[in-house]
Amino acid sequence: MAKTSTLRLKFDSTRTLAPAPESKSIAKIAERYELFINGKFEKPASKKYFNTVNPATEEVLSKVAAANAADVDKVVMAARNAYNKVWGKMPGKERAKYIFRIARLIQERAREFAVIETLDGGKPIRESRDFDVPTAANHFFYYAGWADKLEYAFPNRNPQPLGVAGQIIPWNFPLLMAAWKIAPALACGNTVVLKPAETTPLTALKLAELIQEADLPPGVVNIITGAGDTGAALVNHPGINKVAFTGSTEVGKIIQKAVAGTGKKLTLELGGKAANIIFDDAPLDQAVEGVINGIFFNQGHVCCAGSRLLVQESVYKQVLQKLKDRLETLIVGDPMDKNTDIGAINSRQQLEVINKYIKIGQQEGAEMFQSSAVIPKKGFYCRPTLFTNVAQSNRIAQEEIFGPVLSIQTFRTEDEAIEKANNTPFGLSAGVWTDKGSKIFNMTSKLKAGVVWANTYNKFDPVSPFGGFKESGFGREGGLHGLGAYLKV
Ligand code: NAP
Ligand code: MG
Repeated sequence: MAKTSTLRLKFDSTRTLAPAPESKSIAKIAERYELFINGKFEKPASKKYFNTVNPATEEVLSKVAAANAADVDKVVMAARNAYNKVWGKMPGKERAKYIFRIARLIQERAREFAVIETLDGGKPIRESRDFDVPTAANHFFYYAGWADKLEYAFPNRNPQPLGVAGQIIPWNFPLLMAAWKIAPALACGNTVVLKPAETTPLTALKLAELIQEADLPPGVVNIITGAGDTGAALVNHPGINKVAFTGSTEVGKIIQKAVAGTGKKLTLELGGKAANIIFDDAPLDQAVEGVINGIFFNQGHVCCAGSRLLVQESVYKQVLQKLKDRLETLIVGDPMDKNTDIGAINSRQQLEVINKYIKIGQQEGAEMFQSSAVIPKKGFYCRPTLFTNVAQSNRIAQEEIFGPVLSIQTFRTEDEAIEKANNTPFGLSAGVWTDKGSKIFNMTSKLKAGVVWANTYNKFDPVSPFGGFKESGFGREGGLHGLGAYLKV
């Protein structure tokens, strides 16, 4: 009989599983989308439209309106009107019903939302179906529950809404980020103008249709599309009371300057460079799985991605081999296939950024390992990539790459791990893998990060506040903290 213990499974990521494509037929995508202002879809004053493409195939999905300053003016007025006349005065228990209805409708149309999210953004259908859409619905359910209990959330502090919120979101979790922004704002009695990212506007526009269906009073939620200048016009509009921004640290800094001295309330959720830290007493297979999930989930397009790995020296060789073996099993390709682990990079531009960093890593003297996965010829794809021999000062250890690229370093002691983990300009998240509870407590109290996961990674719940320190921004979204960002107390 053959000795099975020495048998090493070889995976060919393109051939081990038969294709299992999700059907596109459920996704009703219009040829053209207008701006959602005051409960109606309206043509942009600019008369301009831009294409949104499927990054997995490079085909154009739809044309989307580009809002200019005149459109922003109109939409802010609509939101102000809805705030003054309806939403700002409505009792919390009535607002809750609408928010609850949005959550239910997202659940009912979950499959359509998941398919459109994947087509427009390139993330694997498994993720949009099992993570993005249900988590977005949960967020609305959770904040529907708070709408009539604000006095209990902030006892004796007479919580009051701020007014009109201008909300700007990135392309990595388009529907989920819209939910994170809209749900708490509505629960607190604010009206909103939301601007999704240029490359992923479709699920936000679908959400606009759903908001019509939910019969929300006109102007309570407005959704305008456009590029960075649309976002800038919104931020700079004197008629808004609050800016909520999720995106890059670079744009976050511009917004902070623009808002300074205006009296507008501001929350910024920016970039990250999180470290996953594996101690020698950790269950290594689980830890490796967590690290893989932490950086390759959503192609590494995750602000809290575990883009650095710190491994205790005594288990370094073992962990590295396990990581390389696991990397070879990851299926890279068509995001609509239910077997796919790593889908398409969101845009050509982002693929160029990632490839630039892969070159920089090699030039800096780090050693590269890429999976041998065969990637499709059309569309934007990147093989999962590891770097070893990384110095703390290397750019690939300090700067956010926002792609499936992991930088690996070693450490000997807890203190060294903490020092290395904290030594970047960011402070959004971190992960600790160990068998010892005391070590977890020591590490979590010393890691300068808004979220620290222990023996797991990338777990989200609407009850838990999320946000960063240092160049990762300020303010929290989610939980009770997320209400505070939309209230005067
Ligand atoms: P980005 O370039 O900063 O864009 C974010 C949003 O801001 C987009 O809607 C963008 O429009 C808009 N925008 C661009 N320039 C603007 C300006 N001058 N004024 C106002 N708005 C402007 O970021 P991204 O590349 O889309 O997203 C990736 C970044 O987001 C990463 O750095 C990531 O870490 C961060 N992120 C953070 C979190 C968090 O919670 N901390 C979550 C997700 C993502 P266009 O799309 O048209 O450019
Ligand atoms: Mg797109």
